[in-house]
Amino acid sequence: MRYFSLLLLIFVLFACNSEPIEADKKNTSSKTQDPHSYANVHEIRTEHLHLELDVNFDNQTIYGVARHTMSKHKTSEAIFDVKGLEIMKVTLGKEGKEKATEYSVGKNDELLGAPLKVKVGKNDRNINIYYKTTEATEALDWLPPSLTAGKEHPFLYTQGQAILTRSWIPLQDTPLSRITYSADITVPSDLMAVMSSKNPTERNDAGEYHFEMNQPIPAYLIAMAVGNLEYVSLGNKCGVYAEPQLTASAAYEFQDVPKMMQAAEELYGDYQWDQYDIVLLPYSFPFGGMENPRLTFANPTLLAGDQSLVSVIAHELAHSWSGNLVTNATWNDFWLNEGFTVYFENRIMEKLYGKETADILALIEFQDLTVALEDMAASEHPEDTHLKLELDHRSPDEGMTDIPYVKGAYFLRTLEQKVGRPKMDAFLERYFSEFAFKTITTADFETYLTENLLKPNKIQFNTKEWIYENGLPENCTEITSNRLDDMIETAQAFNAVPAQKQKISSFLVKKRSDFITQEWQTFIRNLDHNLDPALMGQLDKAFEFSTNANPAIKSDWFKLCVRTGYTAARPEMKAYLCKIGRRWFIESVYQCLVDSDTEGDYEFALEVFEAAKNNYHYVSRSTIEALLKKN
Ligand SMILES: [Zn+2]
Repeated sequence: MRYFSLLLLIFVLFACNSEPIEADKKNTSSKTQDPHSYANVHEIRTEHLHLELDVNFDNQTIYGVARHTMSKHKTSEAIFDVKGLEIMKVTLGKEGKEKATEYSVGKNDELLGAPLKVKVGKNDRNINIYYKTTEATEALDWLPPSLTAGKEHPFLYTQGQAILTRSWIPLQDTPLSRITYSADITVPSDLMAVMSSKNPTERNDAGEYHFEMNQPIPAYLIAMAVGNLEYVSLGNKCGVYAEPQLTASAAYEFQDVPKMMQAAEELYGDYQWDQYDIVLLPYSFPFGGMENPRLTFANPTLLAGDQSLVSVIAHELAHSWSGNLVTNATWNDFWLNEGFTVYFENRIMEKLYGKETADILALIEFQDLTVALEDMAASEHPEDTHLKLELDHRSPDEGMTDIPYVKGAYFLRTLEQKVGRPKMDAFLERYFSEFAFKTITTADFETYLTENLLKPNKIQFNTKEWIYENGLPENCTEITSNRLDDMIETAQAFNAVPAQKQKISSFLVKKRSDFITQEWQTFIRNLDHNLDPALMGQLDKAFEFSTNANPAIKSDWFKLCVRTGYTAARPEMKAYLCKIGRRWFIESVYQCLVDSDTEGDYEFALEVFEAAKNNYHYVSRSTIEALLKKN
């Protein structure tokens, strides 16, 4: 997933007392307990899930049944995770031969939800849970037509990662266990449904769709979107679903996806999921992208018009190996999903667009990492800068920071520099093949690294320091970019007192399209916070940052507006915060407003949030709500 929040993550691993049966040894990390799930997957686990769901937009409710086919077992109780669901009844047996069984829903925990305990006999392999969603669901985002591109049809999408799938499906919601799934979904006849599975490419008049995902995946990757969608092929085995108003620009922006797939396969082996499609969601989607298998969920903010933000697609595609194929055992090992993906994403970008572009992208991320490390060092949790997280009794979302993503990627870059690219690539290809369709802990990775790369090549590397210590080790590899250095120098001309008038005038006649997004971000990030508001006005007039720039530039620009006290941009800032729901783009703007000394900024933040909150998914809404309360 891309990207993060400085809020929220997880716990510790316990040895499990019960002896796992043979089937479990193949499918779960045998001794690891997930602190974010009640499920007893080491005793009994779902092998296949079949969903029969009716999606009702009139009362924003999903009604249905989740039919679990369980592993062989010796237990008398199966435990599932549920949150904000109304359980109607639970039966045992195959469809048509079902009999009711005893069940209970335990005490609800604000973070984890509740355990659903179902009584089973030792020969019971089929458990059917009849349920409906409620207003308390956290995964579902029901959007009225006004928040879609077409403004005529409603839209629904799900976001399961990290522990939200349990709020729309009763299941064992832990990455320790992998399942296959199928689904029969009924939606209004003017809409089309797609899932993280084999998908239709055309709407049908009955509004009935059948789905199958035959490769085993963790629960957080079960996903669905329903809207006025149409499909456009992008080439062999890939395409994009979008509202008709967006298909042309999406097809243009994502035209290089077939090349990305080829580059990825050349790097680390065959794509294992048959088809790679993208579905473009409305602006409320809280992330840049979500790597739901076979169907990346993408934010329309990626449609920059100049392909400058497509690295997010390279990122989600790379997850088809790191994360979806080789999955973190618990959310404490999240860096195994994200650090490897950011590294892999950059290698794809380098293959397609050259080293200069790849370095610019890596440097922008390093700028973000530097800020995050400083903030976290001063926070109450400096240990959150470890790659291996230990976040007892905290939400997994708290681990979604630059640390697992960018520090994780720089760990691999530094390792690559030490061992050389050919050895690094051969090692990674073997790693993805060895652990394909498995879950893995940080300790599993360390052992594999030592045995397969470090020892055979007699290489000393400070792996433990990277994984278990604060901050960034001194051997972290360095990247430079002349193009970004030039932007820093230009910013310094604006910062100089008195400002360097000649340099400024010759810069102000340039066009915004003369530089790519990351160059503008670097320029804006290097302007002084006490820059003269008159100069801010000149910049805004020349480059239309407040009005016409893409959201990545706007996010940095609006932060600078707050820090410099340039209040003239407030109407555009409000419009931006009401339209965009991507947490990475809005959280830091709200944070700036909260931290600001300028009179009225905090009140402005409250006013904007009040107007905008219904346009945000739960993930963003809860983050911003918590941030505003801290003041
Ligand atoms: Zn990711």
